[in-house]
Amino acid sequence: MRLILLGPPGSGKGTQAQRLVQRYGIVQLSTGDMLRAAVAAQTPIGLKAKDIMAAGGLVSDEIVVGIISDRIEQPDAAKGFILDGFPRTVPQAEALDSLLKKKQMTLDAVIELKVNESVLLQRVEKRAEETRARGEQVRPDDTPEVLAKRLVSYREQTEPLVHYYSDHRMLATVDGMMSIEQVTEEIGRILAAVGDKGGTSRAAKKANSTKRSAGKAPKTVKKAAKKTAKKAEKTGAKTAKKTVKKAAKSAKKAAKSTKKAAKKGAKTVAKAARKAPKTAQKSAKKAVKKLAKRKAKR
Ligand code: AMP
Repeated sequence: MRLILLGPPGSGKGTQAQRLVQRYGIVQLSTGDMLRAAVAAQTPIGLKAKDIMAAGGLVSDEIVVGIISDRIEQPDAAKGFILDGFPRTVPQAEALDSLLKKKQMTLDAVIELKVNESVLLQRVEKRAEETRARGEQVRPDDTPEVLAKRLVSYREQTEPLVHYYSDHRMLATVDGMMSIEQVTEEIGRILAAVGDKGGTSRAAKKANSTKRSAGKAPKTVKKAAKKTAKKAEKTGAKTAKKTVKKAAKSAKKAAKSTKKAAKKGAKTVAKAARKAPKTAQKSAKKAVKKLAKRKAKR
């Protein structure tokens, strides 16, 4: 089972992902979590990402695509994974498509959690409170100011993915305003319909149906052509057809005669050209003879 969870910060992606991990024995791959770990460990990637993340910006595609590419190949991801926070832009989605293709993997579904923006601030504030209560450090980007920036970034850069995956017939949207339990149930229903469980994945099914329709295509085209011809006959297009045929014939004829004329013209010119020196020679000879005769007379 390979999924993408789409949704703005505070939409409940993390919570639902944890439940899916329990239920399906797959791993949650959150680029945000991985980047935070890299920041904490002060790795070269972490050092690059730290300030961008604190300001609510997006880390480069190169970094996140690289992280995901390595991570999905780890043995614990063999049963499947949930991508949380990735892809976040259309170029990232395209990069994901090509790397999954390379690794001969397919996606089963993309689930969008749709939430009213008005509740997001409350949810993120609640998350910060709970974190504090556990004695853990609050995320530096879970402040109202940075959240506003993250929301703008979501709207502008991530929301286009809704259309991207809808066009790819991968998208299922869930009302993220329902209770956590209800959202989980709804996601469960979607995944049951997708029906991974060792069977054919949705993406593979789609590929198969595309293959089938490709096989049918010539027949369909033929049928459509027949239909169009019948219609055309009815609407008197027959006469039009004849006229077109005639016009084509005369055009052909015209082209032929033009060719002939051109050929003829060319031949005449060539002949004249060949003759020209001879004529000039002859008249020169004649003139010489005349002169000689005149001289002799004198
Ligand atoms: P998140 O935990 O998903 O809200 O991510 C926290 C921060 O990590 C984001 O605001 C970005 O700065 C960075 N980040 C996470 N995932 C990505 C991604 N796919 N592309 C770019 N930046 C990301």
